[in-house]
Amino acid sequence: MFDNYAFTVAERFLRYVRIDTQSDPQSKACPSTEKQKDLGRLLVEELQAIGLADAVLDNFGYVYATLPANTNKPVPVICFCAHMDTAPDCTGTNVKPIVHRNYDGGDIVLPDDPAQVISPREHPYLATKKGDDIITASGATLLGADDKAGVAVIMDMVSYLLQHPEVKHGALRILFTPDEEIGRGVDRLDMLRLGADFGYTLDAGELGSFEDETFSADAMSITFHGISAHPGYGKDKLVNALKVAAHFVDSLPKDEWSPETTDGRYGFVHPVRITGIAEKATVEFIIRDFITAKLKAYEAHLQDMMEDALKAFPGATAEVTITEQYRNMKEVLLLHPQVTEYALQAIERAGVTVHRSSARGGTDGSRLSFMGLPCPNIFTGEMAFHGKHEYVSIQDMQAAVRTIVHLAQVWEERS
Ligand SMILES: [Zn+2]
Repeated sequence: MFDNYAFTVAERFLRYVRIDTQSDPQSKACPSTEKQKDLGRLLVEELQAIGLADAVLDNFGYVYATLPANTNKPVPVICFCAHMDTAPDCTGTNVKPIVHRNYDGGDIVLPDDPAQVISPREHPYLATKKGDDIITASGATLLGADDKAGVAVIMDMVSYLLQHPEVKHGALRILFTPDEEIGRGVDRLDMLRLGADFGYTLDAGELGSFEDETFSADAMSITFHGISAHPGYGKDKLVNALKVAAHFVDSLPKDEWSPETTDGRYGFVHPVRITGIAEKATVEFIIRDFITAKLKAYEAHLQDMMEDALKAFPGATAEVTITEQYRNMKEVLLLHPQVTEYALQAIERAGVTVHRSSARGGTDGSRLSFMGLPCPNIFTGEMAFHGKHEYVSIQDMQAAVRTIVHLAQVWEERS
């Protein structure tokens, strides 16, 4: 199917990463930085140029476009989604991508800062890419493979399908979002305008990786109230909320329950912020687990510990606030098993071994899944993201293009 196809994913990628699209968590605007629209405008131009007449960039920085169906069968509308912004953690200004053809398996020294060395010892996946063409940044910036690899993969899929009308597919909706890296990627998404039944984000890493599971997440905040009194005359009256909070935090388990002591399938509770004065102190937690019901158990356990802290400081009181953040997309995907099944089949048809994995975090797909668009995450090859050592293999990106072309076809065949 792809023997005579000249993939465009690499040249597209090299074009997109030069455009600075860093998002900004301090900004209240949407998109958080206007410059994200520079890439959005380019993508709309390119989509229109290859024939997607309805391609549009909206005021919030979202790109929507449709590749119409070329089959008479009723096929669900499938959305392919990637985010245009890059992480605030590392500069994305003046990215100078470098293609390392036929990678020799050794250290890659980045020329703009020779102290920046991408070593296969620290990046075991890179060691498996000997012979591939590897793209890196130049040492001064991140690369932006997260997620411009996903953007380029989707664009090349559209380009392939337009050149191969014999490959049948239903209507495909293309969606490029701003501000994913600051957790606001779907805040202003217009689900009606999108009008898709199922979706896939292209934002996972290693060749063949497929993520259909994320954490479930709550935020919990406990505010301790002390009893204030003039400190010169506080004997037997004053209760210091800071000390209650400190006692409580110190009572957290030291060898379990935390991000620094768990991995794999284990969740955690993690204090992220303490604020306060003698009269009142607040401890904020994030709470994570793959099993949503376990969040309640963690929260109950924390409340028990809070009660113990209050007993140690008679007169102190406390109040608790729990806020739902996001939920494990698997709860939704289990109701629509074909979304996962077809993706796994497509990865295999592309000649790639599937690696199923769980994201120890959230993705836009976890929110999309609960907004009505069941949406697992497919590999692009992007690796070591959010830093100067970021890299991507051109062959991995091409495998992702093949995968989603097959995926569009599988949906048509099975409908
Ligand atoms: Zn990403």
